[in-house]
Amino acid sequence: MIPYGKQDISQADIDSVVEVLKSSHLTQGNAGVLFENKLAKICAAKYAVSFCNATAALHSACLALGITKEDMVWTSPISFVASANCALYCNANIDFVDIDINTANICPNALAIKLSNIKSKKALPKVLIVVHMAGQSAAMRKLSAICKEYGIKIIEDASHAIGGQYEEKSIGCCLYSDITIFSFHPVKIITTGEGGAALTNNRELADKLILFRSHGVTQLPNLMENNEGPWYYEQVALGHNYRMTDIQAALGVSQLNRLDDFITQRHSLANQYDNAFNRSIWQPLTQLAESFSAYHLYIVRNTHWTKEEKRKIFIELRDKGIQVHVHYIPIHLQPYYQKLGFKLGDYPSAERYYHQALTLPLHPYLADKQQQYIINSLLDLS
Ligand SMILES: *Cc1c(COP(=O)(O)O)cnc(C)c1O
Repeated sequence: MIPYGKQDISQADIDSVVEVLKSSHLTQGNAGVLFENKLAKICAAKYAVSFCNATAALHSACLALGITKEDMVWTSPISFVASANCALYCNANIDFVDIDINTANICPNALAIKLSNIKSKKALPKVLIVVHMAGQSAAMRKLSAICKEYGIKIIEDASHAIGGQYEEKSIGCCLYSDITIFSFHPVKIITTGEGGAALTNNRELADKLILFRSHGVTQLPNLMENNEGPWYYEQVALGHNYRMTDIQAALGVSQLNRLDDFITQRHSLANQYDNAFNRSIWQPLTQLAESFSAYHLYIVRNTHWTKEEKRKIFIELRDKGIQVHVHYIPIHLQPYYQKLGFKLGDYPSAERYYHQALTLPLHPYLADKQQQYIINSLLDLS
């Protein structure tokens, strides 16, 4: 089976991990600090805070922005469930903004319309979680302008998008957001096994992210109520143990050295797909002029498909040894979310997109011959 995604681990990556295993600190040591500093530098953000995974980073970002059960959070229905679950962990309310079917990212017009229809202040979201689907930044300039008007904070769920750019700046620089999240799960662009990070330019938010990562316990004078001496610490909030180990961070440092190469390889493979599907029934996601995708995923849409045809072709391709995928089943259609009151028909573009979209294998190990086999198999079907 040709997998849809796969990590690329070099000897340098292995050496980096072994070095930590032989050192004094397996967690809360130097490798963690190195990884955070390197990440902040690459993204041109002031602060990077590592986490045990992106879901923990999203949860902590919501907590840092003060999300409670009184609040409303909006996100995209076309994402992994974690983008919405993080709000539910805070007992907040969740709602979705429909996508632009051509990019699969939140549609700025849909956001503007949804906000203009709001009657009570309680329904106004405190935070919008913007997902950079497949590695391409959403239309951040427009989205942030709309959110500013209403005083809405923005978290970028850039789990797919490290190494990507928007308006020629690195995703993660937080120019149009309060906090940006990355995931380092093995199918993503770089990996730490499990891992995530939250980036921000705001010192207060960085302090809170660190606080919520470690039980809500702090030694920072500006966060403590008292100070009884050098041994003293305080629990000032209810946090979690969401820390990344130094073993993971060491892998992250080494993988970050390879980020540019990974992105170059992904672009070259994506270009080959683009050229091959030109004027076929397979439509790649539209790329905005101002965005440079990290190409976590290569997604094509077949706009002629019925639900039944898609099922048949999906199975046919899997039978041919091609691990195609679907990203994603709209979150509001999950049984858990249906029980919260969401219904089929709530977000028509997301639902239509779901029936049209197919993810093709894309990862640094994908050989030319394998890619040609995938391309031919798809063109044979059209
Ligand atoms: C992978 C992913 C997450 C969760 O990342 P973990 O590191 O596995 O917790 C969240 N959001 C999106 C869009 C993702 O793709």
